[in-house]
Amino acid sequence: MYPETFEGFAAHSAEEWNKPKRHEFTPKPFGDRDIDVKIVACGVCGSDVHTVTGGWGNKNWPIIPGHEIIGEAVRVGPKVTSVKVGDRVGVGAQIFSCMECPTCKEGNETYCPDWVDTYGGFYPDGTMTMGGYSSHIRAHEHYTFPIPDALDTNLTAPMLCAGLTAYSPLVRNGAGPGKKIGIVGIGGIGHFGILFSKALGAETWAISRTDSKKADSLAMGADGFLATADKDWTAGHKMTFDMILCTASGSDGFDLAPYLSLLRVHGKFIAVGLPEEEGWKVSPQALLKNGCLIGSSHLGNREEMLAMLQLAADKGVKSWVETIPISEEGVGKALTRLHSNDVKYRFTLTDYNKQFE
Ligand SMILES: [Zn+2]
Ligand SMILES: [Zn+2]
Repeated sequence: MYPETFEGFAAHSAEEWNKPKRHEFTPKPFGDRDIDVKIVACGVCGSDVHTVTGGWGNKNWPIIPGHEIIGEAVRVGPKVTSVKVGDRVGVGAQIFSCMECPTCKEGNETYCPDWVDTYGGFYPDGTMTMGGYSSHIRAHEHYTFPIPDALDTNLTAPMLCAGLTAYSPLVRNGAGPGKKIGIVGIGGIGHFGILFSKALGAETWAISRTDSKKADSLAMGADGFLATADKDWTAGHKMTFDMILCTASGSDGFDLAPYLSLLRVHGKFIAVGLPEEEGWKVSPQALLKNGCLIGSSHLGNREEMLAMLQLAADKGVKSWVETIPISEEGVGKALTRLHSNDVKYRFTLTDYNKQFE
């Protein structure tokens, strides 16, 4: 029981990935710049499913997923300056980094060679991290983010991973007024791609397999929609996009060439969806016609997280969320439905006070 131990809903094996059970665990020792957060809501990320099913090769059981966390700061270390007890704060998908290497010092802490994931990661002392399907989380203040008052907790939780995963590459690759941006894959991350690309002022096109998500994409603010199942779907759009953000995680049957043909000279194709399979094939010939560039992106830094939350507050960005009360059954249901892509467009687990002291 808090403060010695925390409690959450853990997957105990890949075979029982959608049958989570209550699990008590001991967090890392409390540090001078740590904050204990009593959790009130947590989004359910695609990573959670890839992890508990073993699709990404998780070997550490039991594991408590969840890295789109919002809660109340209930204990604050003596050297913390950015958060007070009682503040509403968020924790995303990264919980620690070395803070001393050149990468950390230049504001690229999400690429620190020693980064620690919010769950299933290991602190230097060997403590395994556990995520937000839990009563509490302990986090360094660098990875604990004040939530602007204007934002709703349940709608904002999914921004802590999915939102930032879309926002950071958009900003770093120039999304803004006068730019034409494509968002491939209209799921949890993709819907944030549309919302934030529009909030940043870019012309934004949704790109999906069929027309089934067309109405939703336009309602999210997309300026146009392309269905890749249509014949000649790139017609009229070749060499017009400045950047394409690919959020699709499946790679089976994914032919990269037509997507790349949409890009202007030196346009960028940035992929943030991580397949469980081998991944797509890239032919140099497909890169030559427009000299396009392919890249990826990992989360976003602290500055970007704070800017994203402020942009959401200023522009009234609202994610599309279904809420599910947290419990063994509720977590199982959320994971099962997300596994079959049966969600519009993100789950947020709620009602923590009914399960935890
Ligand atoms: Zn995530
Ligand atoms: Zn570092």
